[in-house]
Amino acid sequence: MHFYVYVDCKTTGCKERQILHHDEFDPSDSEACTMAVIPSSWEAQCSACRQTHRYSVDDVLDYPSDEAPPPGFCNKF
Ligand SMILES: [Zn+2]
Repeated sequence: MHFYVYVDCKTTGCKERQILHHDEFDPSDSEACTMAVIPSSWEAQCSACRQTHRYSVDDVLDYPSDEAPPPGFCNKF
C-alpha cells in the first residue's frame, strides 16, 4: 500500500496536484505508516501553470493508493 501527501495548486482552474511525500506501508501493520515532516510554510512553483504559491501545513492533504510513484519520484519533504 502506498500513501501520498500532497497539495493542490492554488491557481484558479489549475488542477495540478503536487506530491510532497510518498510512503509505502503494510496495511496489516498500523505502526508502519510514517508521516512526513512538513514545514510550517514553504513556496512552490506549479509545474503546470508556472505560478508560485505559498503553502502551509493547513493546505496539506493525503490519500492512500495502490499505485506506486512515477519513476524517479523524490520526496520533497
Ligand atoms: Zn498550477
